[in-house]
Amino acid sequence: MSIPAAPSTETPSVFTARQLLEQPTLFATLDPAVTLCVFGDPVAHSISPAMHNAALKACGLPGQYVRLHATAEEFPAALRALAKAGFTGANVTIPHKPAALAICDEVEERARLCGAVNTVLVDGEKLCGFNTDGPGFVRALREEFYVDLRDLRVLLLGAGGGAGRAIAVQCALERCERLCLVNRSPEKAKALATELAPRFSSDRLLGPTERCVWAEWTEDCLAQEIAQSDLIINASSIGMRRTDPAALPAHLLTANLLVYDTVYAGGRTPLLENAEAAGARAANGLSMLLHQGALAFETWFNRSAPLEAMRAALQAH
Ligand code: NAP
Repeated sequence: MSIPAAPSTETPSVFTARQLLEQPTLFATLDPAVTLCVFGDPVAHSISPAMHNAALKACGLPGQYVRLHATAEEFPAALRALAKAGFTGANVTIPHKPAALAICDEVEERARLCGAVNTVLVDGEKLCGFNTDGPGFVRALREEFYVDLRDLRVLLLGAGGGAGRAIAVQCALERCERLCLVNRSPEKAKALATELAPRFSSDRLLGPTERCVWAEWTEDCLAQEIAQSDLIINASSIGMRRTDPAALPAHLLTANLLVYDTVYAGGRTPLLENAEAAGARAANGLSMLLHQGALAFETWFNRSAPLEAMRAALQAH
């Protein structure tokens, strides 16, 4: 499959909130016109433009997607300025996702539960907020392992972070078989388990407090929990740096497990290497990145996303 070319060599790699506020008409005058962006601080590393520009091109849609740097102080006004500058929508990444939730005029329930918006649709003067990380993860899981989240007993590492919370909320919305939350700072895992447990009440054998639990990040506790799990997810930052240790030691892993690492940079993390060495099925976070992006595209354009063009653009990075 051919890799779509970059949209325009004239376009700077990062725009600023100041440009959006002081020159809102600039974006429509570029060729192609800028209609979508990702806000972040920092944002220069984001590979979302490659994926979304490939999608626009594959669908023959006008416009282009750029990186837009905004500080925490600049972000509220910059998000509000999208409508005037002719944007269709935006993605939001670290650290602005909670702020985007507060700014949007309408927010879907899932994003509210996550406490974070990663996708904004400009609807006239109105900003509508969504969070596609959880449903993107569900699609990634189906693609990688041919399984449904709702059928699984899940052990989630890094439950206290933004990605961890989004996945935990999705587990609760889907009422997966069992969810065990683990976090470096255990009080966050405990608080989230308490918050989500009522959503697990059903006529199944286990009660809500047995189906949604938390555990300490110690080898003994993890060994006990892994014995009751089908799927282990790493949503912590461990594995992002090349020098990071494995999120779990090899001797805790067994061949019956599915192991998903949300880290997508650098291919195989030490956790995935350990999982494969144990005979487990393992996948990295590129598929989650792809599917959360595809869902954002569907939100903006109300049509299915060109997955293969988007995947090829991500893999080329
Ligand atoms: P975040 O909000 O900053 O959360 C970081 C999480 O990692 C927290 O739970 C934190 O625990 C934990 N952590 C950090 N250093 C740790 C260490 N040395 N040992 C154990 N736990 C540690 O970040 P985020 O946005 O959720 O991102 C977390 C991961 O998800 C990253 O690897 C990122 O690449 C990945 N992610 C992937 C996608 C995708 O589409 N594939 C999307 C979003 C994020 P404390 O609460 O104790 O600080």
